[in-house]
Amino acid sequence: MTTATASAANARTGAAPTPAQALAQPRYTRGQALPTLLASRILILDGAMGTMIQQYKLSEAEYRGERFADFAHDVKGNNELLSLTRPDIISEIHRKYLAAGADILETNTFGATTIAQSDYHMEDLADEMNRESARLAREACDAFSTPDKPRFAAGAIGPTPKTASISPDVNDPGARNVDFDQLRDAYYAQAKALLEGGVDLFLVETIFDTLNAKAALFAIDELFEDTGEVLPIMISGTVTDASGRILSGQTVEAFWNSLRHARPLTFGLNCALGATLMRPYIAELAKLCNTYVSVYPNAGLPNPMSDTGFDETPDVTSGLLKEFAQAGLVNLAGGCCGTTPEHVAEIAKALADVKPRRWPSQYRAAGAADGNLDGNDGDDA
Ligand SMILES: [Zn+2]
Repeated sequence: MTTATASAANARTGAAPTPAQALAQPRYTRGQALPTLLASRILILDGAMGTMIQQYKLSEAEYRGERFADFAHDVKGNNELLSLTRPDIISEIHRKYLAAGADILETNTFGATTIAQSDYHMEDLADEMNRESARLAREACDAFSTPDKPRFAAGAIGPTPKTASISPDVNDPGARNVDFDQLRDAYYAQAKALLEGGVDLFLVETIFDTLNAKAALFAIDELFEDTGEVLPIMISGTVTDASGRILSGQTVEAFWNSLRHARPLTFGLNCALGATLMRPYIAELAKLCNTYVSVYPNAGLPNPMSDTGFDETPDVTSGLLKEFAQAGLVNLAGGCCGTTPEHVAEIAKALADVKPRRWPSQYRAAGAADGNLDGNDGDDA
C-alpha cells in the first residue's frame, strides 16, 4: 500500500497513520528512531556548550595544552580546539547535559569549519576537531542510552563568521567575503568528518543567512549521495530583531519556504531573542511546517553583569517553554546561550507530560502525502 492510499484508508477508519506509513521522511541510515520518538513526546536538546566552557575560566595555556604550546597565534576562545586539548572538559559537559535529561547532544563543532577556524589559523585542524568532537558526543550518548531513552549525537554545523548574501562593506553593497562554493566545500568537509566520527544526525543551526544554510544543506546532500548514508537533518534559524526577520532579510515563512526542500526532520528557531520575543515566530512556524518544530532559546537577553551572560533562571526559561508546549507549538526544546544543565533539567521536567505539537490541519486534512506522523490519536477521522 502506498502512503497516499494508507492515509486515505486511515481517514476512512479514523486511525492515525503508523510510522511505517509516513513516507515523506527519507529512509534514514542512522537515527531511525527519531521520527517515532518525536511523534510520541517532546524531545529535549542539550543547552549551551560555550556558556559551560566559560565557567571553567580556562587560560590561554590551558586552551593550548602541550600540543599547541608553541603555536604562533592566540587560541583562547577557540572552543572547538578543546575537543583536542581538553576532551575531559567536553565529555564532562556532555555528561552533565545527558544527566539533566537531554535526548540529543550537540557536538562541540559549532565553529569547526575551515572558514571559522581560519580566524585562529587552525583551518588545517578542522577535520580532526569534527571527528574527535563527534567521537566524544557519541561516547557520552552510548554511555547514557537505554532502550526507553536512547540518546542521539547531533553534528552541530554553525553559520560561520562570514555571510554569502550580505556585504561586509557599507560602501560596497556588492562585496562578499565568501561565496557559495567556498561554503559548500567547507561544510562538506565538516559534515564528512562528523559522519565519520559517528553522529546520528546533523543540526544546521543559528542560521542568519539563508544562503549559507543552503550551502550547508547542499553539501550534506552531496555527502549522502557520495556515501549512501541518509541522516535526519535539523534546521534552526535565528531571528535577530523584533521585525521577525533573520539577518539576511527573510521572514520566518520565507525562510521555511527557502529550505523545506531539504526535508528536515525538525525546523525551528534558536538563540538570539530569548523565548518571550521568539514566541510569535515559533507560533507561525508551528502553523506552517509539515515537519517537527524545534525551539531552543537563549536564557533571555544578554546581561554582561550576570555569571552566564544571561539573566533567566532555569524556572523562568522552563516556564516559558512549558507555555509554548501547552499551546501546541513544540516538538523539540532545549537551550541556547546562557543555558546550563540546570536549565535543561527544568525544561525536561516541565515538558515531560505535555503532548507534542500536532501536524497543522492543512496537512492532516490533505491525507498527509508530505508525512503525517501524528502522535496524537483521536480526531483524524
Ligand atoms: Zn545562542
